[in-house]
Amino acid sequence: MSEFIATSIAADATDIAKVNLLGLSPAKLAEWFASIGEKPFRATQMLKWIHQAGVTDFDQMTNISKDLRAKLVDLACIEPPKVMQQLDSADGTRKFLFEVPGGSAIETVFIPDGERGTLCVSSQVGCSLDCSFCATGKQGFNRDLSVAEIIGQVFIAAKSFGQLQPKGPRRVTNVVLMGMGEPLLNFDNVVDAMALMMDDNCYGISKRRVTLSTSGVVPALNRLGQYTDACLAISLHAPNDALRDQLVPINKKYPIALLLESAKRYIEGLPDTHRKMTIEYTLIDQVNDRPEHAYELAELLREVPVKINLIPFNPFNLSDYKRCSNNALNRFKQILVQAGYTTTVRTTRGDDIDAACGQLAGSVNDRTRRAERHRARAGQV
Ligand code: SF4
Repeated sequence: MSEFIATSIAADATDIAKVNLLGLSPAKLAEWFASIGEKPFRATQMLKWIHQAGVTDFDQMTNISKDLRAKLVDLACIEPPKVMQQLDSADGTRKFLFEVPGGSAIETVFIPDGERGTLCVSSQVGCSLDCSFCATGKQGFNRDLSVAEIIGQVFIAAKSFGQLQPKGPRRVTNVVLMGMGEPLLNFDNVVDAMALMMDDNCYGISKRRVTLSTSGVVPALNRLGQYTDACLAISLHAPNDALRDQLVPINKKYPIALLLESAKRYIEGLPDTHRKMTIEYTLIDQVNDRPEHAYELAELLREVPVKINLIPFNPFNLSDYKRCSNNALNRFKQILVQAGYTTTVRTTRGDDIDAACGQLAGSVNDRTRRAERHRARAGQV
């Protein structure tokens, strides 16, 4: 029996904290309705009201009886995260800053590209992994986001475009878990939120359009396939362990060979064949952008089903790294293309609102004191 059901049964309704239905996966919502003596179809109705109609007031749920609505008001709530700021870039990119109780804020970015609209979602308040090229890492870490706070980013973004209403425009077509945080370190909540993204009674986003990006938490990646069949991206950024140890410190614990082996198992275990994982490679001037790195990367990935996404580094204060030159970028790409890899370059979007890749910083009430150390090192305190 889940914890919330045990609590519901044990306590008087007036004593318990209300359950936020926004954050219950389809399976857990059915379980919750059963725990209050209601039929499973109530869960389907509720999912549609919340995630397809954007309704947060039980009284507006016209196909639910008055008695049940009164019961829901006593026991539950539907509470999306609070938007502190919404910024629109000249190129159509939209950035949301969400308030996180406890003095932090997280960021979510919507990037339109023709028919496609990709929402980059955060999974933690800050990040504990401290990759050397990442603005989030420099902010330290506070806590994992709840399911409601993760799916709430999709809910708010879709609602802001009028998507959650009959015949509303389908603007959020893709979701990438590439915002603040390492999704596999918040495994259970991320998996539940992805289930909501993909459920046909919710957002109905195809498994080919939801991507989890990891820097390499291998034990969690090893069990991911039991819970989802979403797409996978690996935050690689280096073609060998010596260099990756410097850029992505978790590599010291789970080196490249282990990571690629685990990722390959996940991809090969998916029910549909021919899916490839995405390799993300941030190009940093004079660090990992030389031709020998490209040749080494091509060799490393020879037996792995991948497409490669090159990301020119986006500078931020607290980092001495520089963006790679266009020449280095083109040369790097050409080597990979000639080696037979589908290789794309992520164009910088939302620069005018600090929404570019690697720049998401939010505001983290740091529990690790890492942010302080980084600022001291940069001479900012
Ligand atoms: S790149 Fe990802 S895993 Fe690394 S510090 Fe940034 S948010 Fe964390």
